Amino acid sequence: MNDADTDATTVLAGQAGIRDWQENVYKTLHQHPELGHQEVKTAATVADALRDFDYDVHEKIGTTGVVGILRNGDGPVVLMRADMDALAIKETTGLPYASTDHTTDAAGNQIPVMHACGHDVHVACLLGAGRLLSERTDAWHGTYIALFQPAEEVADGAEAMLTAGLADLIPRPDVALAQHVLPFSAGRVGTRPGAFLSSGDSMRVTVWGRGSHGSMPHLAVDPVVLASMIVVRLQAIVAREVTPGEFAVLTVGRIQGGSKSNIISDHAVLELNIRTFNDVTRTMIVEAIHRIVEGECAASGSPKPPTFELYDHYPVTDNDPDATKTVTDAFRRHFGDRAFTIDRQSASEDFSEIPDALKVPYTYWGVGGIDPAELAKAETAGTVSSDIPANHSSNFAPLIGPTIETGTAAAVVAALAWLGADQT
Ligand code: ZN
Ligand code: ZN
Repeated sequence: MNDADTDATTVLAGQAGIRDWQENVYKTLHQHPELGHQEVKTAATVADALRDFDYDVHEKIGTTGVVGILRNGDGPVVLMRADMDALAIKETTGLPYASTDHTTDAAGNQIPVMHACGHDVHVACLLGAGRLLSERTDAWHGTYIALFQPAEEVADGAEAMLTAGLADLIPRPDVALAQHVLPFSAGRVGTRPGAFLSSGDSMRVTVWGRGSHGSMPHLAVDPVVLASMIVVRLQAIVAREVTPGEFAVLTVGRIQGGSKSNIISDHAVLELNIRTFNDVTRTMIVEAIHRIVEGECAASGSPKPPTFELYDHYPVTDNDPDATKTVTDAFRRHFGDRAFTIDRQSASEDFSEIPDALKVPYTYWGVGGIDPAELAKAETAGTVSSDIPANHSSNFAPLIGPTIETGTAAAVVAALAWLGADQT
């Protein structure tokens, strides 16, 4: 035990008392998910709760962002982030609190919406931690900033808050923290120093042919054949060009060309997704895509140059070693063997844009959300992860207990590693 642990125990003694409220908050959020930049009801719930807990609240930061600041004397400043947005997925969990909500997309269509990435868990945990810290200000000192970010899933919510002047609204943190529910056993927490989440980039490539009747291919330059060659040739980048052992993913997630069987179109569109853990590999892959696409266009006699559009960029989430060690040591003392070193994840996040812009260290960890009994069953059946619905599955259903209790405790324990009464 050290003193910060005693403080964490004091603060977490209130957990049982907030459990019903917190579960109710979670179920309401889960039932009424909102897409990125549309988190109006979620943000109002968050802001109202923070005001009830005596935080100074700033709202509508870069669309729907919310920040609550709890000043409790001199001491370090800790910022913790939760993301609030959901996904355009039709929920199939069958849970009594499943979402049946729809929303309107940019084209005016009604689309289903679901918290399929657990951001409702993150909001419930951060509100819970924020409440517990506000109830026991005798057990810590310093400033706690609870930050609720819009639009993580479309990669621009953190940036939107920064552009809206976040840095001027909050005291400069000494450390920034974030967590994500992931498909491992509920009740466990996983930390990792250094690169933890990959960078993510999407790229839209348009290649041009010459349209014609389907019966007269000799008059055409067929962009469907051209695009098909590109898809196959792109597979060789990771297989043949990336250094063996270096992590990289290049996926062609969408390919579109033509409208009818007997018409040769004049263009085709490919949408690619790129994941890496370092910028050198990322740059090499982007350059290789340009080279291959331009080469295949030349080989096909394409009449005009292809176009390339990079979008939805996520940086590498690269945990600060010292901040990660501080959190890991605190987790090991509090959670015992429920704290472990987690593998790198080929998912991506925009959280790190906030600490990077504020020039402060950060650490980001995983919280398990899967029923351990389900995991054990899947492992016995030899199917390990494929039968377990992971994030972005329409069946993703984090186990409420102990996931929320663990995520809340993790948020409190990590914050008190800096703010605990005997920390300096
Ligand atoms: Zn997600
Ligand atoms: Zn997520």
